[in-house]
This record gives sequence, C-alpha cells and structure tokens, in this order.
Amino acid sequence: MAKSKTPTKKAKKATALKPVTSPYCKPQGSAIHQQGLFASKKIPQDAEIIQYVGEKISSKEGDKRAIDLADEREGSGDASVYMFILDDDHDIDGNVPHNTAKLINHSCDPNCEAQIIDDEIWIVALKDIKKGDELTFDYGFELDHYEDHLCLCGSPKCIGYIVAQEYWPKLKTKLAKKKAVARKKAAPKKKAAAKKKAPKKKR
Ligand SMILES: [Zn+2]
Repeated sequence: MAKSKTPTKKAKKATALKPVTSPYCKPQGSAIHQQGLFASKKIPQDAEIIQYVGEKISSKEGDKRAIDLADEREGSGDASVYMFILDDDHDIDGNVPHNTAKLINHSCDPNCEAQIIDDEIWIVALKDIKKGDELTFDYGFELDHYEDHLCLCGSPKCIGYIVAQEYWPKLKTKLAKKKAVARKKAAPKKKAAAKKKAPKKKR
C-alpha cells in the first residue's frame, strides 16, 4: 500500500478511487439497515476479511468531524460510524466512497471486529462465518444518546439499541427504570394515547 502522504487539500481526489473489494464478501441489501456486506464464501475464524480504508487525519481533526457528524445526524436515527482511532495521534475517517467496509452493520452478536494490523484497520472474523451470512461488528457506541440508535440486528441477544457491550449492564438498568415509569404513566392516560408528542430535543 502506498504511504498516505497526500496533503489534505488533495483529499477530494479520494473519490476517484475504486471501491475496495475482498474475495470474502460483497455488498447486498440487508434486513438490518439498507446495504450490508455478506460472506461470498465460507470465512474461517481470524481471517482478515477486508481493509477499512479512509482518510488518515489527526486525532484532533477526527474528534471535530465526529462531533460535526453526530450533530448533523442527531435524532435522525442514522447510526453510521466512520471514525476509527488508529493510534494516539491519528484517526481514520472511513466516510469515503471507496471504503466498502463502511457498509458493515452493527450487531449485538457480531461475527467480526475491527482490528489494527500493521497500522491499518482490518475487519477480522471472530468466528467461522457461513457463506451468505451478513458481516457485523460492534460499533462500540457510548451510552449517551442511545435512544437515537435503535438496533435492528435481529439477533436473539439484541438489546434494542446500538451500544457497546461494556455498557449493557448500565443500559439494562436504564431501560428497566424507563419501563417502570412508562407503566405508571400509561394507566391513567389511555384516552390521550392518540396524541402525538413532538420529538424530544436534547440539550
Ligand atoms: Zn441488536
């Protein structure tokens, strides 16, 4: 791979790059969300399936872009995540057209994970994957704004929201509390149920 010494001003040129392909997978319509990546043949555990490419930027710039994107999409339910921490000083912004791996959807029971291998980000199989299975990884979202990111992964383990597994115990507590409150409120208000509430705006 060529070293990325491209000055940032030329970043626009990246749009001309061909989409990354892999012998292991191909894009296809997904039941989880729009398009996904699917195994085009049997994939053995630990296989490096496809590189997650993008623009290499400073961590500072990465933080800024991630916040901008989150603001732009707040409340839209769009949970796309494209920014990866590469090392202490650099991020990879995968929001480029040729980054095929950005199609990979989140799952609460993922069969892949993103790993840093020799200064590159690769999607690696966590287990043997059958031909035709959709590839997924844990987006690792924080607990903040979890309500904006409904999960439709369909796995029996699905917690309902796109949240990193390390936060699941906290999320479960939150959801249980919410349910209890909703139950209390629901009883006397049955007739008002048809009323539409304006979406809650945070902050
Ligand atoms: Zn899920």
